[in-house]
Amino acid sequence: MRRIALPHRSGSPASTLVRVRSAALSTLAAAVIVVLLLWPRITDYYSYNATYYNGIVASAAIAAILTVSLNLCMGYGGMLSMMQTALQLVGGYGVAIAVVKMGWSWLLGLAIAIVVGTLLSVLVLLVSLRATYLYFGMITLAADLIVVEVGRSADPLTGGVVGIAGITPTVGGTVIPKNQFYYLVLALLAGTYVVQRNFVRSGAGRAAMAVRESTDTASAMGIRPATTKLLVFGVAGGIGGLAGGLYALQMGFVNPDVGLLDNGLIFFVGLFLGGIGTLVGPLIGVGIIAVIVELIRGYARYTTLILGLVLLAAIMLIPAGIVGSWRSSRIGRDPTGPTDEDEAPGDVPATVPPVAAPAGVAALEGVGLMKFFGGVRAVDGIDVRIMPGTVHGIIGPNGSGKSTLVACLTRYHPLNAGEVRVFGRPAPRAPYAVAAAGVTRVFQAPHLFERVSVLDNVLTGMRMRERYTWAGAVVRTPGYRRQDRAERAEAMELLRFAGLGSRASWPASALSHGQKRLLEVVRAVATRPRALILDEPATGLTPTELAALARLCRALRDRGLAVVLIEHNVDFVMGLCDEITVIESGKVIERGVPEHVRRSPAVLEAYLGRPDLLEEAS
Ligand code: ADP
Ligand code: MG
Repeated sequence: MRRIALPHRSGSPASTLVRVRSAALSTLAAAVIVVLLLWPRITDYYSYNATYYNGIVASAAIAAILTVSLNLCMGYGGMLSMMQTALQLVGGYGVAIAVVKMGWSWLLGLAIAIVVGTLLSVLVLLVSLRATYLYFGMITLAADLIVVEVGRSADPLTGGVVGIAGITPTVGGTVIPKNQFYYLVLALLAGTYVVQRNFVRSGAGRAAMAVRESTDTASAMGIRPATTKLLVFGVAGGIGGLAGGLYALQMGFVNPDVGLLDNGLIFFVGLFLGGIGTLVGPLIGVGIIAVIVELIRGYARYTTLILGLVLLAAIMLIPAGIVGSWRSSRIGRDPTGPTDEDEAPGDVPATVPPVAAPAGVAALEGVGLMKFFGGVRAVDGIDVRIMPGTVHGIIGPNGSGKSTLVACLTRYHPLNAGEVRVFGRPAPRAPYAVAAAGVTRVFQAPHLFERVSVLDNVLTGMRMRERYTWAGAVVRTPGYRRQDRAERAEAMELLRFAGLGSRASWPASALSHGQKRLLEVVRAVATRPRALILDEPATGLTPTELAALARLCRALRDRGLAVVLIEHNVDFVMGLCDEITVIESGKVIERGVPEHVRRSPAVLEAYLGRPDLLEEAS
């Protein structure tokens, strides 16, 4: 995801490195762009065969567009797609039928190519919503085979095995010269790149990344996994269709062979070589392959073999691709910069708005909840009522069913019996919908997005509140920019509270255990929940971090939230909670104010084996 420029002290070695590096990279990029723009003139000047050399670059640019589409699916969306050549084929048919059969403009043809590419992707995704990674890949493989076969047999429309020839882009009756078409292709590649970049850096892209990493985590932030996948795959499909349309215009024909799986090899190799899940990786990868293919032109029948070897070598030597390896290299890495080593958790941010809740209605209520795992009665008839404006502790020994209770309340587990209500209404069925109704949870096991920045982790929590569309983000409307700025400012405030202000651009994986826990908590707070469930957030925190967590819980309570605090250690909860529910073996054994719970014989009994826990508390 986006890498943020760090506030380096000017003159420090780190800032010099960053400046020199970015100047060198900008110069390189500018040089490549200048060469590409002048390419038709260069080839005119140096070669008898200018059209051939222009064609090579145009074809590579078209392949790069398709590779960007693959990158969106696989790199950012985490969806294995084997149907990129099918997208190329249907896009090609779209243009061919529009231009040759209908006599429409090629521009309209390109628009149709985008639409049919999108539709094909959406259709495939809808039939495979529940498929896992590998099965999804197999379904796209099947889709590819089907599209090719339909192309072969739908003779009147597609020209059967022969295909459709004579596809030429014209303006006012005259054919557009190849070197002008070349510029059109370049412009569309640039446009595709911008779409990819702006999409990935927006909330829509962060949601895709969240779903890629874990549907459970994404759901806890109110992100709908299915809709998110549909959007990413649909956008990728549109881009794939566009590439197919351009391909047909460039070659002048389209036939079912365009959709063959073998032809998809180049996109995979390009993506893995350049760097999957990076913005420029697909472009660099395809560019290098175009050069390789040209160099081995004399041995064309070995092309597939050589590309296969390149793919193998890339995966073995640079699994993260050229861009990924560069980013983790000594010069390519962002220096972690001057962080404030002693940065302590700050004040609770004022941006957390007060929550208005109807009086007397429980924020979260479970009635007669039961959840069995085989013979284990993990939750065995539990009633809980969690009121707004309170911190409600749920304590009990390890394995007593606390986490399972949370999973039941937030709909991660289907119930064997019982009912869940959120602010008096029956809780929705899906976890993301529970989050949308205002109940956010922090899991007991770490659920951070380790590979993205600390800041992006927090921003992901704001997805539910984002009011811009993905298209608005892609064209960066003023409304989008305003929201994006406000979100970043708010996220920074939350990070300063967690003592992470100077680490905003770090990958989350670089944080200490306690910092990660606090980051997960503030990411949950960023969803602006009305009820916040924290499953053993205190484990492994330093005393300063513990104090910050306690301050946050109190502040949220004072702003009207219902805070549910799960702990197996009685010590931390006693001073903090307004009400405590004690469970053991899936049953409530005591409930009430801390004083009452502390004296309860049942609780003393339950903790008999662990007198240490109670000693600390009393
Ligand atoms: P706690 O959070 O209080 O430590 P849990 O809710 O995690 O306890 O677990 C309660 C009981 O349910 C344990 O016996 C545990 O082994 C069992 N359990 C929890 N989750 C599962 C699961 N997904 N499959 C099978 N058993 C489970
Ligand atoms: Mg637990």
